[in-house]
Parts: sequence; structure tokens; C-alpha cells
Amino acid sequence: MGLFGSFLKPKLFRSSAVIGIAADALQLALEASEDAHPNEYMGQLRGQDARTLGLDRDGTVVTDVLLAPGTKTTPTSAEFKPTYMPNDLKSVGSVHSHPNGVLTPSQADLATFTRGPVHIIVGAPYGRNDWRAFDRDGEPIDLEVLDVEIPDEQFFDFTQADIDRELR
Ligand SMILES: [Zn+2]
Repeated sequence: MGLFGSFLKPKLFRSSAVIGIAADALQLALEASEDAHPNEYMGQLRGQDARTLGLDRDGTVVTDVLLAPGTKTTPTSAEFKPTYMPNDLKSVGSVHSHPNGVLTPSQADLATFTRGPVHIIVGAPYGRNDWRAFDRDGEPIDLEVLDVEIPDEQFFDFTQADIDRELR
């Protein structure tokens, strides 16, 4: 990205800048990565407006981690169910694991970092500090871990028809 791109970026993302990640979402990503070991875990980051979470700040907080479609999982890990994906959550980037523990993006990673402003790499041994966040250019960024309460209704945003289909 050239000078022009760097100049434009802060303006484009000012209102929706990702200011942090919910502690629960980070924990979920670490656990899912550990579950997938020695395979790679790959997921999508979704965010919500900070103010809907009771924070007196502008910006977006990563509140949810969704397993990417097609990702191989162990029998105990969550399945990807697009039906239950709440529509009001916006995709803000990606998360994936490096079972070798190296917390730097590969060339292949950089090619996929274009979708969304935040990309997290989690590495073995998957402790609470075994992760790093990057921007779309692969530069390390500070992502604050926020202890926010995520409203329950976010997780139950599906219809009775969905439930009936699931129970059938
Ligand atoms: Zn990678």
C-alpha cells in the first residue's frame, strides 16, 4: 500500500476502529486453537459497537469468534451454523492458530489479511499471552483485552422455525 492508501486509512476506519477484544472471545479463540492442535484453527472475528456493550467509547469491540466454514474440527468443538449467525454482528477480521507457536504472519497469511482490519494469530501452547494482533498489512497492533458483558440476546437471535428445524 502506497502513501495514498496510508493517508486514507485513518479516515475510513475512524468510526468503526476496532478498539479491543472481549476477554471471553479471546478465551474462546485460545481454547478452539488448543482443541484443533496439532491442526490449525481458523475463524472469523465479529464485532459490536462499543456503546452497545456499555462502554463510553467510539469503536468496535471483537465479541465473537466463529469457526470458518470448512474448518476441520475435533468431535468436541463447535460446529459452524450459519443459520444462527446474528445479523447485527459485523465481520472485523480473522483469527487462526500456528501450532508451531511462531507468532508472525506467513506470506500466505498476509494474502488473506485483506478482509477486515484485525487479524489474530494464536500459537501453541495457547496460554493467555500466546497471541498477537496484526493489521491488514501484517503490522503488529495493540488490541486491548476488555472485560465486557456480552448481552445474552446476541446469542439467541434465531427464530422459532430455526429451533423447530433443529429439533426435528
Ligand atoms: Zn498463519
